[in-house]
Amino acid sequence: MSDNPDPDVNDRWIVSNRGKKNPVDPGRPYSWLVEKERTVSGKIEDIGIIFLTNRECSFHCLMCDLWKNTTDVSVPVGAIPDQIEWALDQMPDVKHLKLYNSGSFFDERAIPAKDYNRIASLVSSFETVIVESHPRLINKKCLIFRDMLKPELQIAIGLETVHAGILRKLNKQMTLDDFRNAVSYLTKHEILSRAFILLRPPSLSESEGIYWAERSIDFAFRVGVECCIVIPVRPGNGAMDLLMERGDFNLPDIHSLEKVLEYGIGLNAGRVFVDVWDLGLFSSCRKCIDIRTNRLIEMNLNQKLISRHTCSCDSFQTT
Ligand code: SF4
Ligand SMILES: [Zn+2]
Repeated sequence: MSDNPDPDVNDRWIVSNRGKKNPVDPGRPYSWLVEKERTVSGKIEDIGIIFLTNRECSFHCLMCDLWKNTTDVSVPVGAIPDQIEWALDQMPDVKHLKLYNSGSFFDERAIPAKDYNRIASLVSSFETVIVESHPRLINKKCLIFRDMLKPELQIAIGLETVHAGILRKLNKQMTLDDFRNAVSYLTKHEILSRAFILLRPPSLSESEGIYWAERSIDFAFRVGVECCIVIPVRPGNGAMDLLMERGDFNLPDIHSLEKVLEYGIGLNAGRVFVDVWDLGLFSSCRKCIDIRTNRLIEMNLNQKLISRHTCSCDSFQTT
């Protein structure tokens, strides 16, 4: 591992390297989609995802680009339920719903608690509702919202990495104890949690990236999460691009993503998924990218190992 890539990585530096936000409308979610996911029960089912438009997250993590589709100020009370209502009108019937808000659902400046009742009523026909939150915002508000909901509530939390030094550099403003406490709190109150885990954050070599992603999965399951989602780290938010230019960040390779998913599924400790969006970014081989992507999608859905595809690009992997 290289030395500290940049001792000045902090809120100010991260924000100052950003480009412009995309224009968004507080009356509409900035996107929605339906994807397939293996549910806790083992069935493969459609899940709707609504990407809510709201005030940007109060944290400024080094690798995050979710601020791009956010507002600078809080949206008014009623805007979030209006967005959900609009998206549900467009969406086909599905049983499960993710309400992702580019931050923390329980951040009062993003989603006012006054909106919880109407949100709960809008989603009452679903079986599951999944929201995301920073570990430090896991508290009684989760229970208040859960108690209003008819569907089961699940909460996704960014663990990112258990490498303490790298976690600090990510500017997540969270310790592993914060994460452990958040998951314990949810588990105690019978709320399932899922962890987002990064593959190859800055300063790590390819092999270190694999190693720390696997240790992060180990930790997440040990502290009680039910599901892990591994996300290969990308540039595109300004700060990450700068680190890449300096050689302090390199894109992970799709082979590593495959290894980490094989490892995670092999643990048999809970569901393990990898993010399969735009995987061409992580491979320079056009011969096998589609085969590898399809293999990862199948493994995500079935949670079973599928034999690896062999290709001439296997020998060019870097460590
Ligand atoms: S807490 Fe999540 S949404 Fe907020 S900056 Fe960090 S990664 Fe992005
Ligand atoms: Zn190949």
